[in-house]
This record gives sequence, structure tokens and C-alpha cells, in this order.
Amino acid sequence: MSDQPNSKHNLSLQDPSDTIREWLEAYRDLGVTDFYKETPSSRPQPVNPENLMGLDALRLTEIGDCTRCKLHKKRKTIVFGEGNPAAQLMLIGEAPGADEDLQGRPFVGRAGQLLMKMIEAIGFQRSDVYIANVLKCRPPENRNPEPDEIAECSPFLFKQISLIQPKLIIALGTFSAQLLLNSKSTISSLRSRVYDMPYGRVVATYHPSFLLRSPQKKPEAWEDLKLVKRILDES
Ligand code: URA
Repeated sequence: MSDQPNSKHNLSLQDPSDTIREWLEAYRDLGVTDFYKETPSSRPQPVNPENLMGLDALRLTEIGDCTRCKLHKKRKTIVFGEGNPAAQLMLIGEAPGADEDLQGRPFVGRAGQLLMKMIEAIGFQRSDVYIANVLKCRPPENRNPEPDEIAECSPFLFKQISLIQPKLIIALGTFSAQLLLNSKSTISSLRSRVYDMPYGRVVATYHPSFLLRSPQKKPEAWEDLKLVKRILDES
């Protein structure tokens, strides 16, 4: 290696093969065994301006500066949800965490990074999908959502779903799956199949935060994502 300050060897660019190796290792850790190219199923439909206005009205007029449940006392931001209002795929998590509460955006922390890798592996970009949560405010210390909070907040989620009308919803984790599937069963018994619900089709899988703690479950989540991809490609 040359000592010359302007020598090209002094540039701190990574060897491209290292970058590719890191990228492949990240997917291997995720349990990903196949790669999918972008297909028509990952392309959003044209945006209907009424849906956009409906989502804005829901956020600003109906939810407003919500004080309906006790979570408003400690939250910093209402995390309404974000993404393409004409998304074919909607992802629904549990509730904002600390990063989301600060930024006002869903799934922007570590779990969000894993979630993005998961959906990119089936050919979607973050901007293709719509992401929301069962609760729009952070529960203190990330405790579980409580029944009264879910009862107050979930009607807004169902309105979002009816405005977006996705072809498929992925319910991430127990609280989302139990709400969307109107069930009290565990996530491990609800996952791995598709449900036809009055508001659309739903596939449940593990929450990415759980996958960060239990990486041995990633191959099962990958099977669920392949199911999602198959359903969207066939519909
Ligand atoms: N976990 C969730 O369920 N939702 C988020 O937005 C972030 C983490």
C-alpha cells in the first residue's frame, strides 16, 4: 500500500466483493433461500385521489391530537402509518417503539430494518407497501398493548385498510394477528396460511422484533413470505 496521501490505495472504499458478501450473509441470516425479481405483484396500483384525501382526513380530522386513551400522556408523536396509498401489500405491526415515537414513522428502528430486508427479498421496496400498526401511540417501556387501547385505536386501522384496499395484509406478531383474524390463538398456530377476512386477505407471521430475539424462527417467516409472494402473483 502506498503512503502517498492522494494515492488511490488510500481511499477508504470497501472492496465490492466484501459488500456483496455482507449483503448475502445478511440474507442467509434471514433464512432466505431464493431471490425474487420485482414482478407486477410488487407494483402499486394507480393512486386514487379520494383514497389520499380519505387518509388525510382520517389523520387530521378524525384522529387529530388524539387523547382517547392513556397512551397520549407519554407519547411524543402519533405514528399514523405511511407508504403507498395504493399499495397491494400492507404490513401491520403492533405499536410504535422509541425510534418510531421520536420520528413519527412506523418501523424505522432495528425491527424495521429487518422487516425491510424481508420484503425486499420478495421483490418489494418500502415505497411500494403501506405500513401501519395496531396502536398509533407508543406504550410506555414498549409494554404490550392493552385491550382498552386496542379497542379505541383499531377502528382507525380498519378505516386505513378500507381506504387502501390492499390485495394482501401481513399481520406481524401476536397482537396484529389476533386483531386482524379475530382470534385468541398464538402466532405460531395462526401463521403459514391465508385467511379471507371481510376486509381482505391476511397472512400472519412472526413480528420482526421476535425474529431478532429468536433468529432460529427466521426460516418459518421466510416460508410465510414466499406464501405472500405466491398469493400476490396468482391474484
Ligand atoms: N414494532 C412495531 O410493531 N411497530 C413499529 O412501528 C415498530 C416496531
